[in-house]
Amino acid sequence: MGESTLVFSRPVAGIRELFFSATRDESNERSKDYDRVESRGEALGRRVVLDLMRDRDVGITELPPSLDRNDAAMMHIKKHGLSQSFFMVNLGRLYDQYERWSRELPSVTPFYAVKCNPDPNLLFILGKLSCNFDCASLSEMRTIIKLGISSDRIIFANPCKKIHHIRWAREHGIRMMTFDNEPELDKIKKFYPEAELVLRISTDDSTSVCRFSAKFGLAPKRAEEVLKYAQNLQLNCVGVSFHVGSGCTDPCMYELAIADARTVFDAARRLGMSQFNLLDIGGGFPGELDSELYLQMATKIRQALCFYFAKDGIGRHVNVIAEPGRFFAAPTHTLLTSIYARRDGSKDPENLQTYYVDDGVYGSFNCILYDHVVPKAEPLRVVSSSVKGGEHEYGTIVFGPTCDGLDNLTPNGSIPLPKLELGDFLLWKDMGAYTCAASGYNFNGMEGPLTFYVFQ
Ligand SMILES: *Cc1c(COP(=O)(O)O)cnc(C)c1O
Repeated sequence: MGESTLVFSRPVAGIRELFFSATRDESNERSKDYDRVESRGEALGRRVVLDLMRDRDVGITELPPSLDRNDAAMMHIKKHGLSQSFFMVNLGRLYDQYERWSRELPSVTPFYAVKCNPDPNLLFILGKLSCNFDCASLSEMRTIIKLGISSDRIIFANPCKKIHHIRWAREHGIRMMTFDNEPELDKIKKFYPEAELVLRISTDDSTSVCRFSAKFGLAPKRAEEVLKYAQNLQLNCVGVSFHVGSGCTDPCMYELAIADARTVFDAARRLGMSQFNLLDIGGGFPGELDSELYLQMATKIRQALCFYFAKDGIGRHVNVIAEPGRFFAAPTHTLLTSIYARRDGSKDPENLQTYYVDDGVYGSFNCILYDHVVPKAEPLRVVSSSVKGGEHEYGTIVFGPTCDGLDNLTPNGSIPLPKLELGDFLLWKDMGAYTCAASGYNFNGMEGPLTFYVFQ
């Protein structure tokens, strides 16, 4: 299997367009830079992102490349006199992830899954980088339309849609939407007969942390029958989608799902569906920066696209899109929680200390319950000073602020931490995906963290 040479390459183009639009009105001197943007693209692109944020008049702090994360957090705590939890959101990381996407999967146009983290500045920058959007509801679609994103850059990727959401999509010209069953087709026939429909198929998601195929997705072997049903209703089917499950751990799952998608394309060909030209490979990509797993997934995907989708069956190139959420959002957010209470000893003799911090499972750490995360903390000493000659670490239980016993941030029992004082902080990395998005920050009257934007 060779490497794919599919043509759809918006992501890289996006960075160039962005640079071009930023320099268009300036002297010839600077537009010459445009030709060299390929080599200098990264530095320039980063610059443009920072300028865009400044134009937007959002407070953003540019950090020197050498400043480490703990020092950056400490700087914020000192500067603002912070004693409560806060997010430090690094939009430079977002740019870096976008670059990595473009480099590894240039033929796959990303549609960012808004549900993962709808932070307005994250969405704004992604929009400027010409990333498109996966929305699952009226409110998500409205958020993206309000950003000035055109309706053809949105996929309404919820196979089971509410009627008033379908109506809203129609009024705003959002045509692309997914489905996976016949009653949904009857509903779409009634409320949005000119929609462009993408059939979601189920996949083997047994290796993923969050499994979706029990809830959504048609068994591929039923695809022809259901496409035929759509055809009889004179609906417009344009492609096939899948989601291997969020937090996928096995790159082969993409290959299997792409092979299944090919069988759906073949069924569409047999039915003579000439509009059928879109392959949507969903989300599931890892959220850690520099993840080896992502590179393995990208390689598998390129090979499978080349093998199964060199052409769409009637000689055209296939439009390939994806719906990454975690990949873009997770590494942008670092969460700092303040230790505001402490108990020496605990009910469990193995664990020697208990800390109480000001964000918990009803807030950003809902990911422990919904996203099966086992979070890791690093100490950030604001009040205490470190012990000379190495730290002794104790089994530590960390609780969130509500009065619910379930509000425990150490789901595996305890984590090793040194002795810290009230007023010290704990630092939690990669907290941008499925954290603030699904929180109930007001439970028990506990407010959510503050947000500071940085660029590094
Ligand atoms: C949640 C979701 C995504 C994003 O998944 P990640 O694993 O975060 O990339 C993409 N598409 C659909 C339909 C989803 O429901």
